[in-house]
Amino acid sequence: MAKVYLVGAGPGDPELLTLKALRLMQAADVILYDSLVDKRILALAGSRPRRIAVGKRCGQPSATQKQICALLVAEAGAGNMVVRLKGGDPMVFGRATEEMAALAANGIAYEVVPGVTAATAAAASLGVSLTRRGVARSLHFLAGHGAEGGLPAHDWVSLAKSGGTLVVYMGGQTLPGLAAHFIEAGMPTNMPAIAVENASLGTEQVIRGTIGSLPRAVARAGGEGPTLVLIGQALGASDAVKETLRAVSEHA
Ligand code: SAH
Repeated sequence: MAKVYLVGAGPGDPELLTLKALRLMQAADVILYDSLVDKRILALAGSRPRRIAVGKRCGQPSATQKQICALLVAEAGAGNMVVRLKGGDPMVFGRATEEMAALAANGIAYEVVPGVTAATAAAASLGVSLTRRGVARSLHFLAGHGAEGGLPAHDWVSLAKSGGTLVVYMGGQTLPGLAAHFIEAGMPTNMPAIAVENASLGTEQVIRGTIGSLPRAVARAGGEGPTLVLIGQALGASDAVKETLRAVSEHA
């Protein structure tokens, strides 16, 4: 049966793939994958499916969104079972809307399979609850780079005042501007901020700082992998948490 599955591949670690993603990959006729998808994940699909790279990495040539939609329609139209494999979760900064619209317009059935998004993978690595009780009232996913190019025009003042945890996707390049906007909007320069590169992978790098210090620290580190920036009081372990963690590790 011709059908397209928009499947989340998770943040990188193959063990974070869902059983459903694995089953669909192994049953597919063809897999269209983004460059962020780890090679070890593709290997799990076995020898059956054809694999087509559709790119999507800053600064490198890749298929346009229009070409990807056309390819999905053509492959499904030819009667194939198609897995469209995307990094993290397809519904979080994944251009899923364009692909679902193209499929619907052509009368092609589709289904979305969620994946572990980068934010929750980073939180797991850091050992930090993004919604820490009594500290973070809300959780916000922000784009650090918009469709028009560059930093989107966020409501900096509302976000700075929200008392929530801010997680910035695609913000590696625009971090200096983002930090400047937040500080200008009243965020204290000592607000905890952490960058996590390649979350969940062996190459993971964590850079800790504050909204004032993080841009320079990230530039100095010069990492080239996908990077998430997390901002908010929840990212700074309180004295109570530090005390508990110390007591636990002394006990171990
Ligand atoms: N759909 C994806 C996000 C795609 S946007 C998801 O749900 O995770 C691409 C951005 O995601 C990158 O610029 C980076 O900010 C973030 N990202 C994806 N994988 C990551 C990883 N393993 N570690 C850190 N950030 C990651």
